[in-house]
Amino acid sequence: MIDWRRAAKRTLFGLGHHRRRLRGDRFPGVAVLCYHAVRPDDWPTGRMAFEGLHVRAAELDAHCGVLASMCHPISFGRWRAALDGGPPLPDRPVLVTFDDGYRTVATVARPILERHGIPFSVFVCSAPVEERTYFWYDAVALGDGEPEVQRLKRAPFDEWSTAARAASRAVPENDPHAPLTSDEIRELARSGVDVGGHTASHPILARADRAEQRREILRNRMALEAWTERPVTAFAYPNGERSDYSPDTVSILAELGYAAAFTTQSGFASGDCRLECPRFLMLAGVSDVELAHRLCHSWRR
Ligand SMILES: [Zn+2]
Repeated sequence: MIDWRRAAKRTLFGLGHHRRRLRGDRFPGVAVLCYHAVRPDDWPTGRMAFEGLHVRAAELDAHCGVLASMCHPISFGRWRAALDGGPPLPDRPVLVTFDDGYRTVATVARPILERHGIPFSVFVCSAPVEERTYFWYDAVALGDGEPEVQRLKRAPFDEWSTAARAASRAVPENDPHAPLTSDEIRELARSGVDVGGHTASHPILARADRAEQRREILRNRMALEAWTERPVTAFAYPNGERSDYSPDTVSILAELGYAAAFTTQSGFASGDCRLECPRFLMLAGVSDVELAHRLCHSWRR
């Protein structure tokens, strides 16, 4: 059966509708896109945990075509300078971010983004980098299935911690679930990528007491600052829904001097969001046409 809605969007895209509509338009804030990782196009389907979080290389390439030609990709540094009274942002600012710190950000995504001249940020969990293990949710999903991950996200902190430790196992370096290495993180930072915090081991912070939250956030920052030799000033909340962090989390980040923190709640990020900036989640299966449609229409409602 023909999907008429999709066909209509594709036709409008081909006729330049989205480009014309965006030209001269102004976003109500920064469109911060939240990616996780990028799969090589030849990687077989159905082999990965949370496969939807790993967009295809060709999909990212198509997204970059839309962003570079219809919007104004910016770096976190440029945004921060504008917030601090520097030069104002362009009309349609977009910030590309990646959560967790998968190795494919350096090996697959980076060359594509560089080819399009698009800056990006990466929020890295440091414990899997240090230990060369799967992220806990991938280890649990590959062993016991994704529903068990969802159950553990709601479990008390100690139960989660015990289960995550029990599931921990070494990851082959060529597995697309592998985390970045400390050398790759250093190299990304040297090339101008902003490396931000995402805790040491990706707990649901709202389940942890204040001291445990602070330990997770600080241990992560110390590791990242040692690898990058730069201050870490941005943060993304693990899982990122409002119920995944607490007022304590926000106050710890403020105390530690973080300049910005990102959620996964949907919306344009305006100047005053600072420690709870919304983002648009980007999943596999989103075409260039669909991204253009969202930028013009659905995300604006
Ligand atoms: Zn994450």
